[in-house]
Amino acid sequence: MTDAVSLIRAKRDGQRLADDDIRWLFEAYARHEVADEQMSALLMAIYFRGLDRAELRTWTAAMIASGDRLDLSSVGRPTVDKHSTGGVGDKVSLILAPLVAACGAAVPQLSGRGLGHTGGTLDKLESIPGFRASLTPDETLAVLAKAGCVICAAGSGLAPADRRLYALRDVTGTVESIPLIASSIMSKKIAEGTGALVLDVKVGTGAFMTSYEKARELAETMVALGEEHGVRTRALLTRMDVPLGRAVGNAVEVTESVQALRGDGPADLMEVTLALARQMLALAGLAGDKTGDPAAAIADGRALAAYRAMVRAQGGDPDAPLSQAAHTQVVPAPASGWLTGLDALKVGIAAWRLGAGRARKEDDVSASAGIICLAKPGDRVQAGQPLLELRADEQERFGPALAALEGAATVSDQGPPPPVSPVIEHVGPA
Ligand code: URA
Repeated sequence: MTDAVSLIRAKRDGQRLADDDIRWLFEAYARHEVADEQMSALLMAIYFRGLDRAELRTWTAAMIASGDRLDLSSVGRPTVDKHSTGGVGDKVSLILAPLVAACGAAVPQLSGRGLGHTGGTLDKLESIPGFRASLTPDETLAVLAKAGCVICAAGSGLAPADRRLYALRDVTGTVESIPLIASSIMSKKIAEGTGALVLDVKVGTGAFMTSYEKARELAETMVALGEEHGVRTRALLTRMDVPLGRAVGNAVEVTESVQALRGDGPADLMEVTLALARQMLALAGLAGDKTGDPAAAIADGRALAAYRAMVRAQGGDPDAPLSQAAHTQVVPAPASGWLTGLDALKVGIAAWRLGAGRARKEDDVSASAGIICLAKPGDRVQAGQPLLELRADEQERFGPALAALEGAATVSDQGPPPPVSPVIEHVGPA
């Protein structure tokens, strides 16, 4: 028999926590016998001392055991999901889920809403008239069976301990801890019941992890956790120094996603999406034949058909016009030459200030606010030519957004920047 104070002292002093103690902690916390301030103190001790691999495995298992685990065995196809650590213009899920479904897998994508400068997949989809992101477990399974993919909110029954822990971490400065991030993300993904998982771990100014080393450590930690819990897991490290694609916002990203599904997507967005799709199909055992070729599934219209089926199955009208912003404003190129940089963080904050993102969980987002990048690094620009188009529902949003964009674009007359692939590397067993 242990108690919370002993566990806090042990971790504070650099000792490891025994498996039974971790299990006791989560059970006692669920019964409200461990107080939030005790859990907060332990989270801070973990922030400084970390969790070793065995502790992290048990910690994550206890978070999963705090709630339900979806049973996807009735779906009849291999299940594979993707999780992104979040980025600016990251609409990959909207394209990837139907694309991989069109190649023969079932994609149960349980997502979150955006907070801060990175957008949320559900916020984007909710800009489609009628689309429902909150589904019961039965409805989730029904959409998955019908369309081959579903993108909906993770219900409150999945890893409920994570919701309480995340709320504490958010107000105690303990979000930025690799074991706490890894267990938070992976407990929800493992509880969702997917057989395989591909992680898109973003690196760069607009990402949660700005350094390559930290991003790689997070990727390795999450891959190991997934594998230890019986989920075939791989990660891709991808760049997030520049917004992905050209659209940043909600409705504007839906429009760009549909263009991508029609075969007309921007090169960087398609490179990341196709790399993730190939990895997902390999894990699902579906790579190699014609059905399992994602480029073919876009070219022959199957991916777009799967997207339309998913939107309809979730109550949305894929043909309905999306809401348009009342006001637009253009940001001109600061000089003539080659555009060498377009800072993802600055563009993300500007889109957020235009109304596309929320500052607090309970805030609403604007469907139509956002930014269109009219040029991307590598393009030649003339001083004064339109570089960004800002869209907002209220005129007074432009001032704060323009302030965030100060210095966002860098232009050089030294010749074009060398092309860089947005995909940095694959992480996980070969
Ligand atoms: N996303 C999560 O779900 N959890 C974290 O801790 C960080 C990002």
